[in-house]
Amino acid sequence: MYEQIWFEDIEQFLICSRRYYMEQKEHKEKHAVISEQETREMMKLGFSVERPVVSTELFGLNLVSGPHVVVPDGDKWKIILKKSAKTFKNKYLMEAAFHGYIFSSVGFIISQVVIDSPYFTKQVDWRDGLSRLFGLIENLAELKMHDLPDPKPVSQCKTCPHVLECTDVLVKKQDLLAVHGLNEKTRIKLIEEGVNNLSTIVQSEKLNQISTESFEKLKKKAISLLQKREIVLSDYQELGDGVFLDIESHTNKDFDYLFGILVEDKYTPFLCENEEQEYKTFTDVLSFLDQTNGAIYHYCAYEPSRFSSLSEKWPDLKPMVAKIRKRFVDIYQILSKHVALPLFTYSLKSVARLYGFSWRTDLDGLRASRYFQLWLSTHDGSYLKTVLDYNEDDTRATKLVWERLNSLRNN
Ligand code: SF4
Repeated sequence: MYEQIWFEDIEQFLICSRRYYMEQKEHKEKHAVISEQETREMMKLGFSVERPVVSTELFGLNLVSGPHVVVPDGDKWKIILKKSAKTFKNKYLMEAAFHGYIFSSVGFIISQVVIDSPYFTKQVDWRDGLSRLFGLIENLAELKMHDLPDPKPVSQCKTCPHVLECTDVLVKKQDLLAVHGLNEKTRIKLIEEGVNNLSTIVQSEKLNQISTESFEKLKKKAISLLQKREIVLSDYQELGDGVFLDIESHTNKDFDYLFGILVEDKYTPFLCENEEQEYKTFTDVLSFLDQTNGAIYHYCAYEPSRFSSLSEKWPDLKPMVAKIRKRFVDIYQILSKHVALPLFTYSLKSVARLYGFSWRTDLDGLRASRYFQLWLSTHDGSYLKTVLDYNEDDTRATKLVWERLNSLRNN
């Protein structure tokens, strides 16, 4: 039996081939609502089919197409791919080629593929993306014969569960990519001065193109990676008691659907089901926060920026937002400025994982938004519970990093 490849596998392979390789066994048999045989029978009778499944073999792989709908179009067929994006993306061309090729190769001639979003509808010629698709599938088929690809930091690493393992691999290879915050320009300067691995950073005294202060910081980061331990880069104040805030936003509807607040050990979610409820939900959040004491801890700049946007939208709330915003403290800013960690990314997911935290769900912000949308359309409470668990875990993970910062400082 050939290995099954769905389009999601191709997408993952494009983003990070290593993660694709590590997770390929978990991806199988995922959305077969109806069988391939049922799909073919219904299409032969000329019916439109929702969630059809057909497959074909290419380069020793079993490519499986599961678009949203296939509908008759004269004596041919039209594939519809539903999207939520606001604008057309070039990657849809390859997705159209994937589905168009598979259906056509098993005898259902595809006239066109329609990309259908609430914001636009676009017909594409699926043949346009074929050559790129074939090249990619060929690479993917060859991958099986080689070793696990090396980690290459990408933005997906921030939420990836393999981040500790990938850090280890980069450190073992002494790769400069393991150093958090080392931009390309500085990396090139280091290489130009003969510093091309972590140990050489530690052994070097001083460099011409990098200030002593920056180089000392870099050195501590390299030591932290090589010795797998945290190093305090500079002093910081003790972080007092406070509450922990995390916001989830609906990616395609432009509103914040969940404000999670952890006070001591009690998690309180404020849920907003639609834009009409936004004002009331936000007012409730502000009143709740106003009754708490101490700092309002968050991780990265997202929460303050959402509060600012909401106060622009609802000017009567500006004074209250200004009062609350004065209590915001960004844990990430403190951490990245004052501590070197044995990690190549300091995202909340990575740092909390380093400290042994595990999330109860495998969501990230985008998937949480999809689960929320599924809950809205199905009212299946399990989707909402998963989203709430995810958000609560984010607040608890932020608290864990806060605790760790205080204990590092005090010790
Ligand atoms: S941590 Fe980054 S490089 Fe490693 S598998 Fe995940 S996405 Fe790929």
